[in-house]
Amino acid sequence: MTIQFAGAMAPSQSLAVADRLESFCATAEFDRPTLVIDVDRVESQYHALKAGLGHADIHYAVKANPHPAILRRLAQLGAHFDAASRGEIEMCLAAGAMPGDISYGNTIKRVPDIAWAHAHGITLFAADAEEELEKIATHAPGASVYIRVIVEVSMADWPLTRKFGCDRDTALKLLDYAKALGLTPLGFSFHVGSQTRKAEMWSPTLDAVAQLWADAKDAGHELTLLNIGGGFPAFYGEEIQAPTDYAAGVMAMVTERFGHIPRIMAEPGRGLVAEAGMIVAEVVLTSRKSDRDLHRWVYLSIGRFSGLAETEGEAIRYQFTTSHDGEPTGPCIVAGPSCDSADVLYEKRPMNLPLALKAGDRVLIRNTGAYTSTYSSVCFNGFPPLDVVAI
Ligand SMILES: *Cc1c(COP(=O)(O)O)cnc(C)c1O
Repeated sequence: MTIQFAGAMAPSQSLAVADRLESFCATAEFDRPTLVIDVDRVESQYHALKAGLGHADIHYAVKANPHPAILRRLAQLGAHFDAASRGEIEMCLAAGAMPGDISYGNTIKRVPDIAWAHAHGITLFAADAEEELEKIATHAPGASVYIRVIVEVSMADWPLTRKFGCDRDTALKLLDYAKALGLTPLGFSFHVGSQTRKAEMWSPTLDAVAQLWADAKDAGHELTLLNIGGGFPAFYGEEIQAPTDYAAGVMAMVTERFGHIPRIMAEPGRGLVAEAGMIVAEVVLTSRKSDRDLHRWVYLSIGRFSGLAETEGEAIRYQFTTSHDGEPTGPCIVAGPSCDSADVLYEKRPMNLPLALKAGDRVLIRNTGAYTSTYSSVCFNGFPPLDVVAI
């Protein structure tokens, strides 16, 4: 298997970074599956996105990877943060972020956590329901809020449609209700869906939100904030648009539809950190279920419960590198090590892996800096959670 990068990426930079991660991983010894994070790569990706996003503020979606080294570097660079819980807010503050630069973006917040955030200087909250606004008004009086709206159509590889947001009429009512409760409603937020590979795929979502924006203005609301959420992609083998192009493309589409907006927030998670990470794991077993079996089974030391949760539905297809790359390959069903039959990573679309692969061989899994370490179970079946090393 050769290493392929999306056509639009700067190949020299990508290769240099891959070399750096790879040479570290090649020489280091790990006694369990380990995610290696190159913090300089996070920084270069931050600059690349920022170059396209212009005056929009980057609020890093902490849930993608809350490693302290990442949060500290981003805080030093002047990034803002989107936190989903008290725990994430605490991690941002510990990394040096200012409370005014942290938004509490989860629409589902416990009352004690709202009160705690308010007491620690957090002033910007998301909501998508009356009851949430009431909780915020009581426990963070006078706070600013934005209303999260539902995205009906998503072209994302990992859509986030149903759980969050409210429809158009509810969103308009919530602006009024927030005001009546003494809060300051600033505008709307949405999420186009995670891993939306091209800027043009944002178009139906932006059309719908722009219509809502116009309706709210017609209803007399003064809107100053648009939170465009995340969705910025990482390279997993299918072509993606390069980060600066992508971000600039999205911003051009926003300007075209909304005109000038005083404050725009973008919340990249995956697009900021995924390509800065590589997991080092190993093959535990290779087998065939019968002499007639066309597929081999390859069991890895890492699986669905120990970091590769986004293989659910085979949605995210990671790229594997082994020391046998370049040798003949065959279709393999790839599975994790635990005693749970859901711990199969790729079966509907098997992976082509080298036929020579055997127990003990090292496997590198590329672009795994996002949604891996924190999706790792604490100790299911006695397997330790994914270890993380920052270089
Ligand atoms: C998860 C999340 C993000 C990050 O999404 P990515 O697709 O990883 O960029 C941004 N905003 C909110 C509100 C989220 O829940």
